[in-house]
Amino acid sequence: MNDETLRSWENTIRERLTQGNKKYPVHSIWASRAGHPCTRFLEYTITRWQDEAPIDASTRLMFEDRKRAQEQMQILLTNAGCEVREVETPVFEVVTKNGKRLRYGVTGRIDFTLKPPGADKFYPTEFKTVSGDIRFKTLDDIKNSEHHYIRGYIAQLMMYLYARGEEEGLFLFKSVSTSDFRFIPVELDLEYVEEILKKVEKVNEDIEQGNLADRIPYTPSICGKCSFKHICLPSTDFSGNDVKDPELIGALQRRDELLPLAEELKRLEELIDEKTAGLKVGEYEAGEYIIKISSYKRAFVNSSLIPEDIKAKYTEVKDIRRKTIVKL
Ligand code: SF4
Repeated sequence: MNDETLRSWENTIRERLTQGNKKYPVHSIWASRAGHPCTRFLEYTITRWQDEAPIDASTRLMFEDRKRAQEQMQILLTNAGCEVREVETPVFEVVTKNGKRLRYGVTGRIDFTLKPPGADKFYPTEFKTVSGDIRFKTLDDIKNSEHHYIRGYIAQLMMYLYARGEEEGLFLFKSVSTSDFRFIPVELDLEYVEEILKKVEKVNEDIEQGNLADRIPYTPSICGKCSFKHICLPSTDFSGNDVKDPELIGALQRRDELLPLAEELKRLEELIDEKTAGLKVGEYEAGEYIIKISSYKRAFVNSSLIPEDIKAKYTEVKDIRRKTIVKL
């Protein structure tokens, strides 16, 4: 067999692996996604579920590997004297807040609950695999991860703890390369949960009212990898019409940095106009500034008073160029 045959087999297998990826309507936010930094993304997962980019063959294989690793870990934990219960148990049917029963529209399945040898209770446990060494030693290491999906692990487990009314849970990390494993404890943080629930409420409200949250500022590691970027971001098919002038690109970047200041300046000018509107002509001292109010006459042409036939006589049609800049 030649190289071409091998590649063709691989491609056929890849295609078949992704053929089973059926899409189903989504009615709630998955706890595993609740920590996503973009509210708009969460809204799309429900309103545009059918448009989500399908997962590719390697992601499918990665999910399968993770599932097998979890099953194997459960057996090893049991053999080592741990008790494993409530595997893949659904949580978040209904949530109680301030005595009120609320449905937040969050769903999820906890990986399992675990009672390690010598422990006096079961801990909700979220199993995660990593490649290479397990770099996380504390919850802060997860919080400070450069990857938003890793930071999102915390939201996921925190939501499970909240839903079950548990104070403590565990992350169980297993390295697929070194086979090492590590527990990291998690304590329920109600402030953190409140933040997530606020986001969930905003998603629910927007969907109910037919609104769509604003895009987050374009971030390559988030938007660049977003499974809804093809329906969210402005078109990036410019058929080779790209401008490579570094001075122009630098000016666009600097303009972007200054935009918030320009908006603040506009707000301040409006406030100053409002505050000085009542001052008569004259000079005033305001702290280390002098405000001069003067008055002069200027002629205006009120075009609404000009007869239409006269207006038409002096009307010229010119080509106007319009420039719009949108950040990708
Ligand atoms: S592309 Fe960016 S802004 Fe749009 S939904 Fe995805 S993460 Fe949000």
